[in-house]
Amino acid sequence: MSEECNQSCGTCGEECTDRKVDFSEQPHELSKIKKVIGVVSGKGGVGKSMVTSLMAVIMKRKGYNTAILDADITGPSIPKAFGLNQKAKSNELGLFPLTTKTGIEVMSINLLLENETDPVVWRGPIIANTVKQFWTDVIWGDVDYMFVDMPPGTGDVPLTVFQSLPVDGIIIVTSPQELVAMIVTKAVKMAKMMKIPVLGLVENMSYFQCPDCDKKHYLFGESRIEEVAKQHGIEVVAKMPIDSSLAGACDKGLIELFDNTWLDHLAELLEKNTEENTKENGEQKMKIAVASDNGMVSGHFGHCENFMIYDTVDGKVVKSEAVPNPGHKPGFLPVFLNDQGVKVIISGGMGGGAVDIFNEKNIEVITGAQGKAADLVNSYLLGELVSTGSVCHEHQHHDECGE
Ligand code: ADP
Repeated sequence: MSEECNQSCGTCGEECTDRKVDFSEQPHELSKIKKVIGVVSGKGGVGKSMVTSLMAVIMKRKGYNTAILDADITGPSIPKAFGLNQKAKSNELGLFPLTTKTGIEVMSINLLLENETDPVVWRGPIIANTVKQFWTDVIWGDVDYMFVDMPPGTGDVPLTVFQSLPVDGIIIVTSPQELVAMIVTKAVKMAKMMKIPVLGLVENMSYFQCPDCDKKHYLFGESRIEEVAKQHGIEVVAKMPIDSSLAGACDKGLIELFDNTWLDHLAELLEKNTEENTKENGEQKMKIAVASDNGMVSGHFGHCENFMIYDTVDGKVVKSEAVPNPGHKPGFLPVFLNDQGVKVIISGGMGGGAVDIFNEKNIEVITGAQGKAADLVNSYLLGELVSTGSVCHEHQHHDECGE
């Protein structure tokens, strides 16, 4: 290393052992993407896109802003699973992803090709460049979790994609009939080279459960997945069966309606991992809203004057803002507050319908509060504010409380 080294290897021609080449690309300036999770497999057809889609559906159900970047350029199957058949639009600022029925953002080559049955016969560098553009030129907006359906294998194209995108963790998908040991070893080595943690191993098409006798049949023989995972110090986070209703939902573009618990553990791991990283980065940010009238907590959530929204960092209020109540329509306000990034709502009274939607979106509800909005937020942060859990059922204003 020369004495004048300023660590800017990108603009320096010196050949030294400490040379660091940064291939990473910046996302579009209108995108704010918090977590990028790559889903990889040893070869095509093992269910990588299936796991990507199901994970996006679960995280969306948990209330996170979720996106899928379909980097499997030669075998794009994400749009089909979500029933997306329109074309993506663009303007002078960039390219807009399509949004699924439940609000997951998707970009895929199939949303750009004139005819989705046209084969993509491009060479590796062009494919890798297209994926980079999905990162740099697409206006993703605010995304909590982006899942990247990686090109299959561990060759040049996935490697370039890994180098260009700031992937926070990878999920490895295998099926029992693959040469599991070799494939997992390759994927783990690639992750190590890129210094990306492996979140876990998913064995897809693990077994078939007979609908008549409930017995599990291991069609591909005894699985070696646990042993292989142990060798690499990683966890088998899910074993998914071959399920004809899952394949059917996918074929009909209705993957968002499919309910299962196979990947719940992985989703929890992901949330925990994010929480730990936030703590490691030293800052815990949270938005708290108080339904207010004139600075005091309102007795009627749905008809309050405004929502006082407090930005907190590490348990302290750093900013407050009064957001006028945009108007009460059944089911609308919880979604509105969720879109503002609110994680706790404090109110006097609230209808059961609104409470249910907040619960669904993982937003904590404190009801029965009385007093000044600012004082209530401070008591909440000190852990002293307790919800009475009371729900407006039948008092005369019941329709004013968000029912
Ligand atoms: P990959 O992304 O690895 O190429 P896909 O996710 O596209 O694989 O899956 C290949 C095919 O197998 C798809 O038609 C998909 O619907 C089907 N499939 C995947 N996983 C399952 C499963 N667990 N049960 C039934 N069908 C599945």
